[in-house]
Amino acid sequence: MGAQGEKKFELMGIPPEKLGRQFEQIGERKFRAKQLMKWIYAHGNFDFSTMTDIPVSLRQYLAENASITLPEIAEVAGSSDGSTKFLFRLQDGAYVESVYIPDKERGRHTVCLSSQVGCKFGCIFCATGKLGFRRNLTSTEIVGQLYLVREHIRVGGNDLTNVVFMGMGEPLDNLDAVLDAIRVMVADVGFGLGHRKILISTVGIPEGIRKIMQTDVRPKLAISLNAPDDELRSKLMPINKKYPIRTLIELVPEYAKYSRRWVTFEYVLFGGVNDSLEHAHKLVQLIAGLPAKVNLIPYNEVEGIEFRRPDDRDVLRFQSYLLANSIVATIRYSKGRDIHGACGQLAGRFVLKEK
Ligand code: SAH
Ligand code: SF4
Repeated sequence: MGAQGEKKFELMGIPPEKLGRQFEQIGERKFRAKQLMKWIYAHGNFDFSTMTDIPVSLRQYLAENASITLPEIAEVAGSSDGSTKFLFRLQDGAYVESVYIPDKERGRHTVCLSSQVGCKFGCIFCATGKLGFRRNLTSTEIVGQLYLVREHIRVGGNDLTNVVFMGMGEPLDNLDAVLDAIRVMVADVGFGLGHRKILISTVGIPEGIRKIMQTDVRPKLAISLNAPDDELRSKLMPINKKYPIRTLIELVPEYAKYSRRWVTFEYVLFGGVNDSLEHAHKLVQLIAGLPAKVNLIPYNEVEGIEFRRPDDRDVLRFQSYLLANSIVATIRYSKGRDIHGACGQLAGRFVLKEK
């Protein structure tokens, strides 16, 4: 133990560069960071005394002063469709959720992560938005979710392939921690994922998108559009009054070039609200010619929120219209509906439960 009240040297979820600098500050060599990360992420070994390539004196120092913190798994719920929801309890008693989504056909094993406890953006259809905002997660807490879900994936004989920031919270409102977490995910000595295997979904914060483009990380970007004009979007997503659609659209070509991938527009379909052919037509007008595709998400109904899931026929009609007008459009039938694990349904019953 360190001296009373002294802050522990945290190792979980700290990117290699930063950890290297922290080692230098305590008079150690920078490369120790990578050695330690290998023990933690590749070998799953948290016992300093057995880290044989680290000098004994440093091992002792770490045993006394460092921690490798993981959240506590409070609940695991399996869905009939193969996805699994994890409820994590953080050190201060707050709860967040992650979802593991296997896709056998495409050989994908995706983890959907949370970036905040609650969310301050208040989109009127969203369960997380209804909770309000409690706090940002640290990169330690973000990576901790991934670490634990990856263990579960491995027990099933599979490998983690993709990460999406589509759980609770707005990743661009906690960008520094999200970027650090991504740096751990893409590091060889971390999770070894490709940058484009990681996707950030945002409510649409132009300065956050610009800020990513000034960094060393190149995740894919999904913008939650959900409406083809400002009038409707402002009703659904109050942030649109501050950052109208045009301010997002104009960043799309630049970001697509930066990430070398098309940007995705997420469009949640709400029955009778934004799912008519007229809306589809407006959407085509808005995004034709952009390096972007559309991901249609039939709304997952949330208790206490009025919106309803659209009819399947209307969903297909909407998609067909986009396709017929040369817009690449897929439908995402969310997994985990029976465990309230689908995107935007997270955060339900436990999150504000007390310490
Ligand atoms: N804050 C970010 C990421 C979390 S929400 C964002 O808004 O993009 C991830 C996606 O889930 C968003 O596209 C959001 O529009 C969508 N979503 C929210 N509630 C939903 C629900 N009940 N059913 C389906 N999608 C929902
Ligand atoms: Fe927050 Fe995203 Fe939900 Fe909007 S949709 S309230 S930004 S989590």
